[in-house]
Amino acid sequence: MNMNRDEQIAERLRQMPPKYGPTYRRALKGKSLRACVNSQCLECCGWQSAEVARCTDLGCPLYAVRPYQDGSGTGQDGQFRDAEGPKGQEVGQ
Ligand code: SF4
Repeated sequence: MNMNRDEQIAERLRQMPPKYGPTYRRALKGKSLRACVNSQCLECCGWQSAEVARCTDLGCPLYAVRPYQDGSGTGQDGQFRDAEGPKGQEVGQ
């Protein structure tokens, strides 16, 4: 199957829980590395944020910056909280 980018994006959006669509769309714009990491980790773990928090792939290059490490459930990690957006703004969902 040979899909163009718009078709691939539409297919991904169909496959993910709707609540993660905004983060994915932000990632697609290429202006938020946090949104890119969060979307990649969520997709990697079948869109289960608890599984991202419990990731066991210590060698993954995203491991240290993966979302949901702080237990807040926001996808905004403590040490990266102020990296993008005002404090308190959820960038992970
Ligand atoms: S850090 Fe873990 S959850 Fe994130 S992409 Fe890597 S293996 Fe997947």
